[in-house]
Amino acid sequence: MNNKNIREAAQIIKNGGLVAFPTETVYGLGANALNPFAVAKIFELKERPSFDPLIVHIASFDDLKILSTGVTDNVMRLAKYFWPGPLTIVLPKSQLVPDIVTSGLNTVGIRMPNNAIALELIKESKCPIAAPSANKFGQLSPVNAQHVKKQLPNVDYVLDGGHTTVGIESTIVSIEGDICQLLRPGFITLEDIEEALPNTFVFNHTKPEKLVSPGLLKSHYSPQKPLYILKDPFGNIPETSGLILHRNDHSIYSVSKVIYTSQNCNKIEISSNLFAALHAMEEDKNVKSIYIEAVEEVGLGIAIMDRVNKAAYQYIKPTN
Ligand code: AMP
Ligand code: MG
Repeated sequence: MNNKNIREAAQIIKNGGLVAFPTETVYGLGANALNPFAVAKIFELKERPSFDPLIVHIASFDDLKILSTGVTDNVMRLAKYFWPGPLTIVLPKSQLVPDIVTSGLNTVGIRMPNNAIALELIKESKCPIAAPSANKFGQLSPVNAQHVKKQLPNVDYVLDGGHTTVGIESTIVSIEGDICQLLRPGFITLEDIEEALPNTFVFNHTKPEKLVSPGLLKSHYSPQKPLYILKDPFGNIPETSGLILHRNDHSIYSVSKVIYTSQNCNKIEISSNLFAALHAMEEDKNVKSIYIEAVEEVGLGIAIMDRVNKAAYQYIKPTN
């Protein structure tokens, strides 16, 4: 990876093409956010339903004011506190943002990623970049360049920035006046947001009646084989399965494969390694089904279990 690669990738964005690029969360599939024809290609390649809006990635605070008509003091405070970082803020959109980006909504999700390659790409492209995760709709999110190529072999260009650090998608919030709603849990927790906005009412809206954010679909992020969640005690685990654990208790399991996301239940490590573990199990032909240990749902554990529950949603859970 060097500046020449980034310049080549930026040229593709300028020409209306698609570039997969690393962010600190997962890899994104990017297009010029202001070019509706380029953005349409994202939906086509991902097989993403048109009702699912995209997040727009920016590299400077000035871009925020160009894309949104609702940049209040509170919004600036939140952005300055967490950006560049894994927080998407949903704001009233300006006329410059094409409807296809927002699926016809009058709001747009905006984020400044904390990844040098992503920021450089946006600057070189001289436009904001609309980018959902670089995977087929509903499947596992990519946390390295190989994961992208597995699901999207026809993407115009892949910028390889190695393994992402955070490993799960951004936290999404909307903010109107003194009310901030959490729409999707992520690395930045509700408590983190409360700390940044002490005079604002922050509440959890991640179980809405209607679909505020399609990232809230009950089934999402799924591997291409059955996935079951294990709660203590584990009960019977078939020998042909792959087992994903978050602590090493030094037990010997008679299964096809064991992957530890962490040795000691460190939630930052679990988040970082979660999707890579699921990809590895998906790719291993000896693994017929996947079993994953549950994580305590506090702090970052809420976002981790949000992804795990959605990944496992379509499968019947074992009786334990
Ligand atoms: P992805 O990048 O694939 O994780 O998907 C982006 C997520 O951001 C989707 O779940 C979108 O629904 C959500 N999102 C983007 N824009 C908005 C918006 N204007 N309002 C609510 N959610 C949004
Ligand atoms: Mg996604």
